[in-house]
Amino acid sequence: MARYVFITGGVVSSLGKGLASAALGALLQARGYSVRLRKLDPYLNVDPGTMSPFEHGEVFVTDDGAETDLDLGHYERFTGVSARMTDSISSGRIYMNVLEKERRGDYLGKTIQVIPHVTNEIKDFIEIGDEEVDFMLCEIGGTVGDIEGLPFFEAIRQFAQDRPRGQCIFMHLTLLPYIAASGELKTKPTQHSVKELRTIGLQPNVLVCRSEHPIPEKEREKIALFCNVRKEDVIAAPDLKSIYEAPLAYHREGLDQAVLDAFNIAPAPKPDLSTWHDVADRVFNPEGEVRVAIVGKYVQLEDAYKSIAEALTHGGMANRVKVKVDWVDAEIFEREDPAPHLENFHAILVPGGFGERGTEGKIKAAQYAREHKIPYLGICLGMQMAVIEAARNLAGIDTAGSEEFDHEAGKKRFEPVVYHLKEWVQGNHTVRRKSTDDKGGTMRLGAYTAVLKDGSKVADVYGTTEIEERHRHRYEVDIKYREKLESCGLVFSGMSPDGRLPEIVEVKDHPWYIGVQFHPELKSKPFAPAPLFRDFVRAAKENSRLV
Ligand code: GLN
Repeated sequence: MARYVFITGGVVSSLGKGLASAALGALLQARGYSVRLRKLDPYLNVDPGTMSPFEHGEVFVTDDGAETDLDLGHYERFTGVSARMTDSISSGRIYMNVLEKERRGDYLGKTIQVIPHVTNEIKDFIEIGDEEVDFMLCEIGGTVGDIEGLPFFEAIRQFAQDRPRGQCIFMHLTLLPYIAASGELKTKPTQHSVKELRTIGLQPNVLVCRSEHPIPEKEREKIALFCNVRKEDVIAAPDLKSIYEAPLAYHREGLDQAVLDAFNIAPAPKPDLSTWHDVADRVFNPEGEVRVAIVGKYVQLEDAYKSIAEALTHGGMANRVKVKVDWVDAEIFEREDPAPHLENFHAILVPGGFGERGTEGKIKAAQYAREHKIPYLGICLGMQMAVIEAARNLAGIDTAGSEEFDHEAGKKRFEPVVYHLKEWVQGNHTVRRKSTDDKGGTMRLGAYTAVLKDGSKVADVYGTTEIEERHRHRYEVDIKYREKLESCGLVFSGMSPDGRLPEIVEVKDHPWYIGVQFHPELKSKPFAPAPLFRDFVRAAKENSRLV
């Protein structure tokens, strides 16, 4: 039976609960325990798959094809444990399950209520895979006091009550605001937040307090006294220069010790933090810098491309360079020549995206990188743009485009080099889709195998000819253009095992030009950088010596 740590937040949102959870996971692993992390989101969307990146940041995709919260990305990057569909749930999904059961008659005529039906559904979800790990870390999204969060808080209260004593603990994150005029850290919001928690029956065991300054002894004592915890259970979480410092910083502040104490685990196994020392050393002691342009649409919100930014950092760590990322709005290139905007970068990355806006600009960026021999990594839509660029400018198909942008019925503007995929093979069954299907959860999602061409650049990068990477897209490069494009120098170097779906393209006479239909950034870890990002940054570094 697993031990459970429930992680909640108060005072304000965006305190870094996901990061604190992930760092705790890494610290428990460093002490020899197995962990799984889970996110419970109170919003009513069934999953974030249909939300705009502006609303919610990146949608993180798991191997088994779930579209989840970006915190699951942090969990994976810090623990290396692949998240599953059952590690992310929202109110929307919970209610959907409850209502489906009600329609089926599973409740045998009972009146369906938040307690016990909704809370039971949440509790069932929390304990999936209970026997597999030593610790289950469950983070509740939002802040205490949110209306939508109440069933979750009630469910975890009941859950802890149902289990033997000492098997569940509660960790609460708050903010200690600093008042510059008086030079003080204020504890009142934390006191109120804990009061709110206790009103609904939850007593935190560990308090993690975000603050810009160290917590003076007097304030620590005050928090302990008013919030009913021991002084040692008040953990300071100062702002960090890099998120990859978090495990070491939290360890220094005593987080893992406080958690093990709360479970009465003594003596606590000694931690082996060598991985995190190496990670921190690589982050803080780079031997140079490379500049990478990310040409995209959602550039105002960095969270929209969270995993890409992290994967670039990992690539930098592998090459001992700092990767300086600049976010360039693709739409600029629809009006202006890309050269002055891109000539100072050592590499160009065009990320995934949806819809037509900005795509002509991305095509220009792909063209610029190809013609000027600048390392180029096109991810998902970024690969599709590279193929359209090659079709137009190398193969002479002037109207090449994607079906995604031809939405007006009866008006066809583009020759569909990229088309709406309606049927594909997943494992040993065929998936079928129609244009009229729901938008949620109907893309080609999750891990699929790609077979790499012997002797290709990607086969060299991966060091193997069979890989598995995560997907999230509805459109696909049309294989029927393969011959024509290959005769112009665009190699189809990775294919689905049945040979029908192009997974990777690369430009032959170019130092580094690769487009991939999948999202290699999703599997990258600081201690195991994604091969494509590792080599892309290496190519950027090489290019930086030439510029
Ligand atoms: N919009 C494109 C598609 O659905 C690309 C998706 C993506 O970049 N994730 O195929």
